[in-house]
Amino acid sequence: MSNATETTTTTTVPPCPEWCTLKPGHDFTGEIPGVEMSRGHAMDVGPVEISAEETQTADGAITLYPPSLYLELDGYGHLTAEQARELVPWLIRAADKLDELNSGAK
Ligand SMILES: [Zn+2]
Repeated sequence: MSNATETTTTTTVPPCPEWCTLKPGHDFTGEIPGVEMSRGHAMDVGPVEISAEETQTADGAITLYPPSLYLELDGYGHLTAEQARELVPWLIRAADKLDELNSGAK
């Protein structure tokens, strides 16, 4: 029996992008309950994180945003010259990986 006023709630969590190293199928967390939920996919390249946000609105529409680089620094972002030089190879490696992901390669 069909009921035209019935709404279907999709509880299936879509798979992560292949590059995400978090727990497979990690769930959305409610940021604005009933309006929009989101989850972040992530992969570490040394101290640099590649991450992408995915949102799901109340109507079930899912949007996966392109990945980008994220760098969390101690000391409110202040770096010594030596710390900056240590970061450079990691940033280059992470940028190369990001290009690879955005070009559709795995
Ligand atoms: Zn993920």
